[in-house]
Amino acid sequence: MIDLASPFLKALLKHSTSPVVIFKIKPILVVVEYNDAYQALITRSGGKSKFYDIDIIPNLLSDDEKITLIKTVQKVSESKTKQALIIHPIYSNSPNVNWELEFSPVLQSDRPVEYLICSLKEVLNDEHELSHILFELSESEARFRGFFEQAPLGMCVLKGIELITEYANDNILKLWGKNRKEVIGLPLEKARPELEMQQSLIKDIFKNKQPITINELKLSTPVSDGYFIALYEPLKNDKNEVTRILVIIKDITEQVNFKKELLKAKDILKIAMDASEMGSWNIDLSQKQILLSERAQHIYELEHNRLNIDEAKSMIRAEDMAKLTRGITRALHNRDAFNIEYQINLKGINAKRKWIRTAGKAYYNEEGKPIYIAGAILDITENKHDEIRKNDFISMVSHELKTPLTSLSAYVQLLQHKFKEIDNVFPAQILEKINVQLKKMALMIDGFLNVSLLESGKILLNKTNFNLIELIKTITEETKMVSPSHFIQVIGPEKIFVNADMDKIGNVINNLIGNAIKYSKKESLIAIKCEIKNNYLVVSVEDEGIGIRENDITRLFDRFYRVESPDTKTIAGFGVGLYICAEVIERHQGKIWVESRLGKGSTFYFSLPL
Ligand code: ADP
Repeated sequence: MIDLASPFLKALLKHSTSPVVIFKIKPILVVVEYNDAYQALITRSGGKSKFYDIDIIPNLLSDDEKITLIKTVQKVSESKTKQALIIHPIYSNSPNVNWELEFSPVLQSDRPVEYLICSLKEVLNDEHELSHILFELSESEARFRGFFEQAPLGMCVLKGIELITEYANDNILKLWGKNRKEVIGLPLEKARPELEMQQSLIKDIFKNKQPITINELKLSTPVSDGYFIALYEPLKNDKNEVTRILVIIKDITEQVNFKKELLKAKDILKIAMDASEMGSWNIDLSQKQILLSERAQHIYELEHNRLNIDEAKSMIRAEDMAKLTRGITRALHNRDAFNIEYQINLKGINAKRKWIRTAGKAYYNEEGKPIYIAGAILDITENKHDEIRKNDFISMVSHELKTPLTSLSAYVQLLQHKFKEIDNVFPAQILEKINVQLKKMALMIDGFLNVSLLESGKILLNKTNFNLIELIKTITEETKMVSPSHFIQVIGPEKIFVNADMDKIGNVINNLIGNAIKYSKKESLIAIKCEIKNNYLVVSVEDEGIGIRENDITRLFDRFYRVESPDTKTIAGFGVGLYICAEVIERHQGKIWVESRLGKGSTFYFSLPL
């Protein structure tokens, strides 16, 4: 029995500079001891598994070689003589190198052989190969240098604990503001005295053998001024000792400055949002979670900054929920922003109502699926109360104005009747003109009344079944009497029945025809078409008027919005007509839109579900 732990044996193994392994033959062939040179050879040839037992070698030896190896081992143990064998390790980095294994039995008197000593030697296929290998080596060095030089990064190699600059590429020299003579062959403290602070950190790599990264390193040299990321990678020798350090430096000035700009913009945004008392929120659509900013949390008077969607929905006034859902769904569908007002009910001791305005936009993933919606909110309760007071005032004044106007109309009609009876034409004509003006005034007052009713949510639909074509024809006839200046044509079938609020739809048609007359020249044509498309009734009012610019179209249906142009300057109006039309049509679950070409004319459409 040999003592594998014997210091003598260990010293002997260590002493040998060529790879040596001791095998135990039985019960299976295993490696019981090996020296550093063997370990180094295995590491160098790229081997991962150690040459431990024959069953884990197959990736190293071919099947034939495995059989030869077993046979050789048997021969050595039986004949108790030395045997040699040449194999070609499959994972060897060099195809021209073989291993020569020499097995010697450990003889212990006449006992059967229990251990084998195997020495390993790298041998070349033939003598000519040597020059070939040397050539390959110089080639690969040239390739390495080429890579080193052309790398779009600053690179250098520091040798030994003194950190002598062995290689440095042009990029790094440019960064340093030095030429090769000033750095190559010199220790770092001489070559780059400005790096005094980092020296001990770099030297520690020799001990720790771990790479280090210095991020956002600020460098200011006469030629380069900016931020860099520096990577120090230990390079090890066969004995796993760090002998050199590979330094890679990348210019990240742009990224760092961009980050700084971003932070600055974020700060400015925060200041602006704070100043305007605006809060922000973010809905994660997959988690159905809403994250609130501090101010948004304050507006909602919540103790936490997270809210799930159902919780948020339960706070919104039931009547506003549909409006909010519709607005957001439409924005998601059209991929644009939404801007909606709604009321929330606060619970608990602070139970009260608040008016909120929220605006937001969705963000989509690569497949076009919305992933989150982000936006801002504002507490508009105060403004809303002012608005409600103003609306109440308008509605009161409009009411008060309407009463005398109604009696005035009645008196005018009475007088007209009387004058017609006595065939007094002139006063009857004047009275007709007064009547037209009174109708215009009544329409305007109705407009204001409708706005205030709409704003306060008091407008209710009184739906009935009626023939829309008939309604359009009646309105057209009335309009022709009041404005005989235009040619008005109705195109469509005889009958289309809809279930809607007749008065309000009548108002919409009146408004659209009124506008077509107002914004087009005398004697031009106005065409009103009715058709059924995909279960919707679509009504269009087409004129040959002044048209509308693309930019104005998006805001046309806003309250009090009027196009400002030399053409519209002299035309009276308050900008409420289309707003009311849009509200009425929306409440009927329909759609309203316009197509227009400046100077050519416009077509206003609305649709109603059938
Ligand atoms: P008002 O006509 O009282 O100003 P509306 O809400 O009815 O208010 O219309 C808003 C604006 O839309 C108008 O000021 C006008 O500039 C534009 N507009 C409406 N209808 C037409 C049309 N048929 N042709 C051109 N411009 C129009």
